[in-house]
Amino acid sequence: MNAPLPVEVLKQHLIDPEICIRCNTCEETCPVDAITHDSNNYVVDPEICNGCMACVPPCPTGSIDNWRLVVRAEAYSVQDQLGWEELPQDKPLPVDAAAAGEGGQPMPAPQAESGLAQAVAVTAAAPGAAVPPWSAAHPYVNLYTHKTPITATVVGNYRVTGVDTESDIHHIVLDFGEQPFPVLEGQSIGILPPGVDAQGRPHHARQYSLASPRDGERAGYNNLSLTVKRVTQDHGGAAAHGVCSNYLCDLAKNDTVQVIGPFGHTFLMPNHPQANLIMICTGTGSAPMRAMTERSRRLIGTADIGKLMLFFGARTERELPYFGPLMKLPRDFIDINLALSREPGQPKRYVQDLIRERAAHVRGLLADRNTCIYVCGLKGMEVGVLDALRDVVVQSGEDWSILHDALRREGRLHFETY
Ligand code: FAD
Repeated sequence: MNAPLPVEVLKQHLIDPEICIRCNTCEETCPVDAITHDSNNYVVDPEICNGCMACVPPCPTGSIDNWRLVVRAEAYSVQDQLGWEELPQDKPLPVDAAAAGEGGQPMPAPQAESGLAQAVAVTAAAPGAAVPPWSAAHPYVNLYTHKTPITATVVGNYRVTGVDTESDIHHIVLDFGEQPFPVLEGQSIGILPPGVDAQGRPHHARQYSLASPRDGERAGYNNLSLTVKRVTQDHGGAAAHGVCSNYLCDLAKNDTVQVIGPFGHTFLMPNHPQANLIMICTGTGSAPMRAMTERSRRLIGTADIGKLMLFFGARTERELPYFGPLMKLPRDFIDINLALSREPGQPKRYVQDLIRERAAHVRGLLADRNTCIYVCGLKGMEVGVLDALRDVVVQSGEDWSILHDALRREGRLHFETY
């Protein structure tokens, strides 16, 4: 009689639908296109995933870091996962499979467990770092989840772009009262908009970057601010009503909001004296730059602050959030470079044009290992910014790929685009 065939065990990679905030980072990061999504869930295809772990460090919530030992032939299919509202319980393996799983080799085994060293190694192809700067403060993440959100009260909501422009961007201040909600500049939060989607399910959370520093929108208060653009068109320009952005922009003082998070453990500012910041942003990508700038400004006179250089892109001055307060900052504190692409009577300029124009200064800062670079805004800006940084470095006869690797390895180059 033939011996029974050995049962193949799979360490199946799954995403927790209750924690995932559908930010698309995993799908973008996956080098083998194993991650896909529909309007309900982000899921991992067991036929394609090779357990390389590249998607794990960039995930802001940790929802990606879930694994189940299953018999390969009974792996959860993409279709199964798309229908989930929560992860299934662990299923006991059959005895022969369990033995294979413990003593044998579950296939595919993840190539590395999560951790900073592995993060650096496995995400080498990503444009930015998967680790924070060495001197960053330790962030708290996931203190509040979909199941345990925190209630914040709106204490301010006003428009920060010209009323005659198409770009309706709001500065929204949320107060947490006596409830702990510790945050750092560069982190984001999730907002749970009320109501249900077309399928009758509660809306999923949307993510928003903090626009205020760690000690509050108003120093010493347990509050924070957001910079929210009202979405009235989709990315293709067709009319669309953004669920969460419209909800937020229409909030009145004293309204309450359900919040989850905080999220983000890498896009964090350095904490050591003489650390320099190069900040490159467009539109609402200015939120984390405002937070970092304000943190630095509050340290004036108490700490040895490095150089701040800002590249800020918008169509016109009136569409640039926080234009007035920004222009009042002392020039010896921050070097401001505005790139306006549709200002009447002025040539079109984008942030990458200004980076090239200011090559000598940018190069000087890049040569200093105390410099960290932050890029935030539209997804499309990544390539242009990287090309401009490369040109600036190559012009001086240096090797961009060596510097780029060092910037990623040392947690000195960070992207947050959406
Ligand atoms: P939805 O109802 O989700 O979408 C409506 C339609 O608009 C869809 O067709 C959708 O594809 C399209 N759409 C979605 N977003 C945009 C957009 N930004 N521009 C044009 N079309 C869009 N947004 C901010 O305003 N400020 C922030 O600080 C901010 N920070 C973010 C940080 C991270 C890490 C991420 C991942 C996203 C961030 N966003 C930010 C985007 C935000 O999470 C929402 O995606 C955005 O507000 C749209 O949500 P909505 O519910 O209004 O639109």
